[in-house]
Amino acid sequence: MRALTWHGKHDVRMETVPDPEILNPRDAIIKITSTAICGSDLHLYDAYIPTLEKGDILGHEFMGEVVDVGPKSTLKKGQRVVVPFTISCGSCFHCSKQQFSACENGNPAENQDLGQTLYGEPMSGLFGYTHLTGGYPGGQAEYVRVPFSDVGPIVIPDGMPDDDVLFLSDILPTGWMAAENAQIEPGDTVAIWGCGPVGLFAVQSAFKMGAHRVIAIDHFPHRLALAKRFGAETINYEETDTYEALMEMTGSIGPDAVIDAVGLEAHGFFADNVVDQIKASTFLGTDRPHALRQAIVACRKGGRVSIPGVYGGFVDKFPAGAMMEKGLQIRTGQTHVQKYLPQLLEMIGNGELDTTFLISHRLPLEQAVEGYKMFKNEQDTCTKVVLKPGLELA
Ligand SMILES: [Zn+2]
Ligand SMILES: [Zn+2]
Repeated sequence: MRALTWHGKHDVRMETVPDPEILNPRDAIIKITSTAICGSDLHLYDAYIPTLEKGDILGHEFMGEVVDVGPKSTLKKGQRVVVPFTISCGSCFHCSKQQFSACENGNPAENQDLGQTLYGEPMSGLFGYTHLTGGYPGGQAEYVRVPFSDVGPIVIPDGMPDDDVLFLSDILPTGWMAAENAQIEPGDTVAIWGCGPVGLFAVQSAFKMGAHRVIAIDHFPHRLALAKRFGAETINYEETDTYEALMEMTGSIGPDAVIDAVGLEAHGFFADNVVDQIKASTFLGTDRPHALRQAIVACRKGGRVSIPGVYGGFVDKFPAGAMMEKGLQIRTGQTHVQKYLPQLLEMIGNGELDTTFLISHRLPLEQAVEGYKMFKNEQDTCTKVVLKPGLELA
């Protein structure tokens, strides 16, 4: 089959690789019909995260048609499914608490020791996301093997187009969980750093959960315009001082809840950010958390901090004092995708959530390399690239 493989920093290639096969009784093989490039794939593209190997197949946002099943899969050939990016067994201690992304059994990898050292626990299993998370081949390919296929994938009713439901695989439930983690109460003001896909879904989700005002912060005009379309007020941090603007907008109290939908690659030319870049390049610190620092400092006393943005290592100058003295509550984590799928699928079906607005480019899978370049270099207008095997360009 054809697949997008990683070979080093800014070096991904379309290659012919062996087809996946059923390895375990609960496996299914999915023929991919749509797969997206994620902002967190750019962390791999930029080689920020260790333990990728040359030839690894990327991609954790995908859907398709069931073409083969093991004897213990509950799926049937011909069904259309969206597959969560988290690989979860459904029956361990954490899965039974619906904390699917903390599954004990999703990651049998040889690199568990590294996760154990870094985090005190091995990471759970994820598709297409390094050998720290199991080394599972991803879905930017013609076919993919899905372990625990009786637990993860959600069957899509006939008549719902791929473009409506593809983002159930990651960014929609991630934006939703980000808003849920912000513990929004009716009337709240919520500030969201980052108007990428997760931030934009968090904007919609926050309003659904009763937020009175949502303030979206970014520097890309097109992305800020999308946030505005869903009712957010906006701050362009290149034109305005974010902290001062937030204080002015909230009567000097600060937002009730703040969401960092940026993560480890926050960029910009702030003094602390420049220091972070020097530290990252000299291995004195690994993550660049400008947005998180600002969010914690701006949040009102007794407020809530939600962190869907991905961090992988260590953070320097973390404002622990502000966190403690202001009595902030912090919630974070990889998304428990499976927990949210039925509810979100229903909301898409009812027209309560808009998902397709995000797709700026649809490309054949064969043009995945161009897709990565575009997503990396044209972040203002290239909001989401969806790859479709066999797509003929008009
Ligand atoms: Zn993703
Ligand atoms: Zn489990």
